[in-house]
Amino acid sequence: MSYERKVIDIEKIKEQEGICARISARFAAEGKRPLAMVDTYGCQQNEADSEKLRGYLAEMGCGFTQNEFQADIIVVNTCAVREHAEMRVLGNVGALNHSKKNKPEQIIAVCGCMVQQEHMAEKIKKSYPVVDLVFGPHELWRFPELISRVMTGHRRVFAAEKSDGVMAEGIPQQRDGGVKAWLSIMYGCNNFCSYCVVPYVRGRERSRRPEDVVAEARQLVEQGYKDITLLGQNVNSYGKDLGAGVDFADLIRMINDIPGDFLIRFMTSHPKDATEKLFETMAACEKCAHQLHLPVQSGSDRILKLMNRSYDSAKYLRQAELARSYMPDLVLTTDIIVGFPGETEEDFEDTIRLCEKVRFDAMFTFIYSKRVGTPAASMPDPYTREDKQRHFDRLMEVSNRISSEKHREYEGRILRVLVDGETGRDEYNLSSRTNGGRLVHLRGNPALIGRFIDVKICSGNTWALYGEIENG
Ligand code: SAH
Ligand code: SF4
Repeated sequence: MSYERKVIDIEKIKEQEGICARISARFAAEGKRPLAMVDTYGCQQNEADSEKLRGYLAEMGCGFTQNEFQADIIVVNTCAVREHAEMRVLGNVGALNHSKKNKPEQIIAVCGCMVQQEHMAEKIKKSYPVVDLVFGPHELWRFPELISRVMTGHRRVFAAEKSDGVMAEGIPQQRDGGVKAWLSIMYGCNNFCSYCVVPYVRGRERSRRPEDVVAEARQLVEQGYKDITLLGQNVNSYGKDLGAGVDFADLIRMINDIPGDFLIRFMTSHPKDATEKLFETMAACEKCAHQLHLPVQSGSDRILKLMNRSYDSAKYLRQAELARSYMPDLVLTTDIIVGFPGETEEDFEDTIRLCEKVRFDAMFTFIYSKRVGTPAASMPDPYTREDKQRHFDRLMEVSNRISSEKHREYEGRILRVLVDGETGRDEYNLSSRTNGGRLVHLRGNPALIGRFIDVKICSGNTWALYGEIENG
């Protein structure tokens, strides 16, 4: 697949920052300290994009709020992967009528994957007059210019052009300043799984240059982040579009070489091209977490073919085995779609069988959601919602049982965990994560947040482990 790699000139990002400075000066001249609210739906990539929106908003002089009645600027960063997320966005955007009535000068922007779909952008234009600005993921780099057009022109602005996607470096980012950080290494997707809208709304695969990724990782480590998750729709194809001779495993090694005590995680890996080199590298790099999210989607070869996933269940099982042979303590998680068009009882049983064989540490299960413009949307889908729900419930039971059994196996073990936050509860006031990413609740001093400590696991259930501090 060939396409032109469109990199936004750094001067253009500087111009956007210039616009932020002018907006900030304008607010200051009015004696105003504006507040912004950024509401994020969907995946970690969207969380990372919202950090960029906040970066620009901070340069516009904004503070932040979670209260829509106090906000001067509201940005809703949307997801299009399933209908449920879209319905929630539309409901919540509709409800913003109330806050805008109270504060007529409030600016409401809707961005992200949902509005990159033409029919959704149209719907918002026609039925949601409360929205002032709509822009797709490819326009995020020029958010300041777009918002300035709304402010100065006092009119609605729509910018969600069709695009294969752009790349931009140097956009300011406002992270939460805590323990964990997202780090995008690539954007877009080339895989066109038949059910999925992502390639249509996020464009083709574009990898960031390894030197830019490593420089950002180094900066994060220097800022004190301890848990860095590398993000991409399919990290295993990192670098293929660059031709720089650096693949994903090489990138992990380069980040592993950065001095400091921190963990490298990543998501998501596509099973069609997870390599032995990757597993070997994960095992060899002491900072790389032994955690692999490897979405299988289905255990039926017939359905996998219809999904255009380019692997079969045997290949998946071989990969899981190979990964575990390099890392016996590997935490392996997956995504599964239930009720893909035409999925029969037999297909579903294949999925159950695969799950019983692999014994995932955790499974993220979804009922198939029809997405406009995808090939699966026109496939015959004779099964009822009730059939799908029944399968979904059964799969959840299997998943919960296996997770709980696996968590019980931790009891009595001493593990190194990273303390990452407070739970707000008295009994177990701290939360932490194992190297493999399992949640461990603890009781201890909040000053431990951001530190690696040893804990003894006392108990575990489907969702979490409970431990006692051994040292700290
Ligand atoms: N790039 C990642 C997944 C991104 S979407 C990958 O390929 O693994 C996250 C998950 O949402 C997918 O793994 C899939 O299980 C689910 N998903 C995507 N499209 C869906 C749809 N139309 N209906 C239901 N679930 C879907
Ligand atoms: Fe969607 Fe498949 Fe790309 Fe993942 S790999 S984003 S499921 S098209």
